[in-house]
Amino acid sequence: MAKLYFRHGTVGSAKTLNLLAVAHNYERQGKKVVVIKPGFDDRYGQTEVTSRAGLTREAHMVISATDRIEVNQFDGVHCALVDEVQFFQPQHIDQLRDVVDQKRVPVICYGLRSDFRTQLFPGSRRLLELADSIEEIKTTCHCCNRKAIFNLKSIDGVAQLDGPSQQVAGDETFQPVCSIHFTEQLDLDSYESLNETTRDREMA
Ligand SMILES: [Zn+2]
Repeated sequence: MAKLYFRHGTVGSAKTLNLLAVAHNYERQGKKVVVIKPGFDDRYGQTEVTSRAGLTREAHMVISATDRIEVNQFDGVHCALVDEVQFFQPQHIDQLRDVVDQKRVPVICYGLRSDFRTQLFPGSRRLLELADSIEEIKTTCHCCNRKAIFNLKSIDGVAQLDGPSQQVAGDETFQPVCSIHFTEQLDLDSYESLNETTRDREMA
């Protein structure tokens, strides 16, 4: 039975490596896979899916915010694999659900659950709502041996809570951290500004 999968993990949890391994296994059996990525993750070029371990391949579909994922593109496909799914729009997740249900194609989505402010990405939220199967790809905290659950953003070694959550290129670095080290690494000012932002949003 085909399912919609959400395999989430922090940065550095080898999600893309896992995706590439699944694609390799299907293709070794002579089965057809479709690799899909969002249009604005341009760290490695528009069409490439690249893991930090260095493996890479071309995506078959690059989906921009306004694109529609049509179910008819999945005729004869044995498995669809989605990289960086957190950058997809919620309606894309509904469209992937249709691919599973109408074409009986398993769709395996890899991505972050939450951004560097610990808040769900809209696409990840929709996937948590619609997925048949939710699995965690685990890795350890950058600072200790606890499981990492958050993504800490740093610019020039200083932890940050500012900036857009969809920015993936630039000078910032992201590290997997546990909750204790996430809090420790952020200075109090950043934390207070987050709380103010949250309060403003609640009052608006
Ligand atoms: Zn830690």
